[in-house]
Amino acid sequence: MKTHLIHVITLNSVKIGEADRLLDLFSYRHGRLLCTARGASRMKNRFAEASEPISEAKFWVSFKEGRMSVVAKEGVIVDPFRKIHSDFFKLNLAFFISEIVRFFFKRNDPAPSFWIFLRKFLKNMEDEINPLLFAFFFIKTLQHNGLLDKICHICGFEIDESAVCEKGGFAHKGCSVGGFYVDKAVLNPIFYLTSIKQEKIRTVRLAHDIEKKVAGIMYKMLLMHIDKPLKTAKFWEDYIRNQR
Ligand SMILES: [Zn+2]
Repeated sequence: MKTHLIHVITLNSVKIGEADRLLDLFSYRHGRLLCTARGASRMKNRFAEASEPISEAKFWVSFKEGRMSVVAKEGVIVDPFRKIHSDFFKLNLAFFISEIVRFFFKRNDPAPSFWIFLRKFLKNMEDEINPLLFAFFFIKTLQHNGLLDKICHICGFEIDESAVCEKGGFAHKGCSVGGFYVDKAVLNPIFYLTSIKQEKIRTVRLAHDIEKKVAGIMYKMLLMHIDKPLKTAKFWEDYIRNQR
């Protein structure tokens, strides 16, 4: 069987059977893939290391016919994100990020620009975390999925003043069928953040209360699009509670 080299972020990893691991991979070229890593939990080698969750790796895989899953027998770690793994707090927040990615990115739906964004985000998490960085992550996730346009998702006209957050995106207050209200002082920073690159986020200075509001609203908006409870929500909620 032909093997392909795939470049991935390992989002999740569970032991199956005696020796194998089932990996949830986010690959640069193919999007999310379910991967059976044969023998990965039997040994302590570079293949086992590559199969750890929250890491950047390369795997040699064969695609199962007509399916979105692959089998790997070999792999190498590219970046283990050691400063995340050595910090329990950061690791839990990285699992939270991973769970969000698993909700918003479907299997076999390539998203290379978001893949690059995610890799950079995890890299940045090694050095620093703050609520605005996570808000930025939520914004980019929603934006990538077409849920954060500056136009009303009901009438199609631009949103200039305050808006309502709904499933489906922003809406004018008058057009809205239900959702929660966001005032202009918060809406403007949100739209500003959609327009910048990750490199620039560290230079953005917002008033502390606006920063917290942006993070809170983006999280609420994210949850509107997730139809079951997030297993890792408490990591984020504890983090934000302790920010006060
Ligand atoms: Zn409207």
